[in-house]
Amino acid sequence: MAHAPLSAADRKLLETTPPEALFAALKRVLFAKGLVAPEEIPAQIAQTERASPLIGAQIVARAWTDPAYRALLLAEPARAVEAFGVSLTGAPPLGVLENRPGQHHLIVCTLCSCYPRAVLGYPPFWYKSAAYRARAVRDPRGLLAEWGTVLPAGTEITVVDSTADYRWMVLPMRPSGTEGWDEARLSALVRVSDLIGMTVPEAPA
Ligand code: FE
Repeated sequence: MAHAPLSAADRKLLETTPPEALFAALKRVLFAKGLVAPEEIPAQIAQTERASPLIGAQIVARAWTDPAYRALLLAEPARAVEAFGVSLTGAPPLGVLENRPGQHHLIVCTLCSCYPRAVLGYPPFWYKSAAYRARAVRDPRGLLAEWGTVLPAGTEITVVDSTADYRWMVLPMRPSGTEGWDEARLSALVRVSDLIGMTVPEAPA
């Protein structure tokens, strides 16, 4: 979608109009164009309020224990998350990035705070910070080290930009020492930062 640059007058109007008035105006345009139905907005807000990293953790735990689910999650994330009552209808596509030995993924929205809210809830505060957004790109290994995430030597870190068009989550590696664990026990290991790639799940020593 191409965007015409805002005129100085439009920019001024945007900056000085109260957010509630902007939201009301945006809704009027979306409804008038038939892009969004009035009942879709409260439904979307309710889904986001219900979502939390606990859903992401459950998805990961199932992928760790069920190879068919893992394959579906990587191939068709939108279908896979339906198993947890999440609908991505009307939401940007979700991509799932699988960490493997030698290959780690870190997710950032360099522009703002794009995040797969339907499956992970609201992003953690640091995800939106200018410092995270800049450093994730400039020095991902140093940033991870500050969080205590030291990857095996030779591990490649791929930084992936979450955008308005595509939202990403990480499928971390199942930690060793969790053989025989069930889904509930495994999902309790998975933290929000594991789902972004800032940390990796670890079994308690
Ligand atoms: Fe964004």
